[in-house]
Amino acid sequence: MSSPTYGPGVMKYVEEAKKLLAEREAHLVQAKKWKFDTIAVHGLYSVEEALHHNQGAIIEPLYLASSQAYRDADELEAALAYLIPTWCYTRIANPTTYYLEWAMALLESYKTGHDASCLVTASGMAAIAQAVDPFLIKQKSGPEKINFVTSIRLYGGTYQHFNVRKAKERGIEVRWVTHPEDMNEWKAKIDEDTRFLYMEAPSNPLQSFCDVKALADVAHSWEIPLIFDATCATPALMRPIASGCDVVVHSLTKSITAGGTAIGGALISRKPIVTKVRNDHPLFKDSFAEYVKFLPYRDYGPSPSPFNSMFALNDLRTLRSRMDLVSRNCMDVARFLETHPKVYQVDYLGCPGDPLHPIAKRYMTLVDSNDGNGNEINRYGHLMSFRVDGPPENARKVFDRFKLIFRATDLGRIKSVATIPAISTHQQQGEEARRLADIPPQLIRLCVGAEDPADVIADLDQALHAL
Ligand SMILES: *Cc1c(COP(=O)(O)O)cnc(C)c1O
Repeated sequence: MSSPTYGPGVMKYVEEAKKLLAEREAHLVQAKKWKFDTIAVHGLYSVEEALHHNQGAIIEPLYLASSQAYRDADELEAALAYLIPTWCYTRIANPTTYYLEWAMALLESYKTGHDASCLVTASGMAAIAQAVDPFLIKQKSGPEKINFVTSIRLYGGTYQHFNVRKAKERGIEVRWVTHPEDMNEWKAKIDEDTRFLYMEAPSNPLQSFCDVKALADVAHSWEIPLIFDATCATPALMRPIASGCDVVVHSLTKSITAGGTAIGGALISRKPIVTKVRNDHPLFKDSFAEYVKFLPYRDYGPSPSPFNSMFALNDLRTLRSRMDLVSRNCMDVARFLETHPKVYQVDYLGCPGDPLHPIAKRYMTLVDSNDGNGNEINRYGHLMSFRVDGPPENARKVFDRFKLIFRATDLGRIKSVATIPAISTHQQQGEEARRLADIPPQLIRLCVGAEDPADVIADLDQALHAL
């Protein structure tokens, strides 16, 4: 295939764009030297960008326009050939979303020793679909039967996506790992036709965990990527790229947009990723998130509303201090529930008695914190669950008595919310899958917000008195 040639008018725009690109590159170099909080607050939106391009607005503008206009045919041609920075059409890209993508790429790769790229999507599920699909395409001379290996302890929507959309509808073999902390179980399920490994940690709702680095090493020994859903940790508490992960996905809907005003997702990839899937596009391996953005994403259309990008961007600015606060609150609540006579089990990675506490302790720390000895302080997020004594009706009784805590199929909020997964998030997957995933009807999932923890504890206490 010969490369196309462009006229001098087109090349004039390419020349002109070099100045803008150099400006952005200089700011990027600076941003990479900042601390986590500074990146979260400013991202790639600089003083120069505000003054020269956005009438001095100190906050990133919300660009609602569906499309971008061009000066003439030459600029249009240069833009559509991706020769100059352009956003073109909001399904393809959008300036507001662009700021969010860069902030997420920088935060997720912070102190990992790697560069990363990011694609923001309309939801967490869209990010997951965009992350896994490119690895599941049929290869020319490849095998008929392909598979992927995944933890079974997943967000309910992801379980359905894999079990129904991928396995039942498309005939892709999904190999479930029931104890993801056991590396031998992963190893026993991988073969030549495995396209990727998929892990979620801490998982929703049970906070399953594993040795992230060991799992990335297993994936790479087979020349396949590790795809990781780190929604419950957020980049403030864990950045799996530091441990060798190739692709990280987030539901931005949760702790990142804690205000609860928007749905969104993000796919962040390390540059480059490990994969043996052949794809002619150089970005596929070198900058996977960008590859997805340029090609499949454009064709499938899971683009976010710029409004939602703006909400996410706004909440993201305070991510670190907020995750610190809600993690501490959750720890207080977990301690209270652990000693409560009507509660027979508390699952929280922060509790020293939790079987996965030692491994989580190695990975979950508050970024840029200091315990006085130069080590980061452990923080475990705000998701926990507890199991109420007696028959399932007891859990429902307690649940129905909450006065401050919202009953909602939601988490990651600035407000405390609770749900019963067996009848909500994990209702569709059926009794057997719930048994394998260890989600009994007695289990209440609680995500502790930023209220004073004493008030949350008082609400739990009065509710437990129903029994
Ligand atoms: C909510 C959630 C998702 C799905 O995200 P949406 O934004 O709701 O599509 C994926 N993974 C985890 C861990 C989640 O909690």
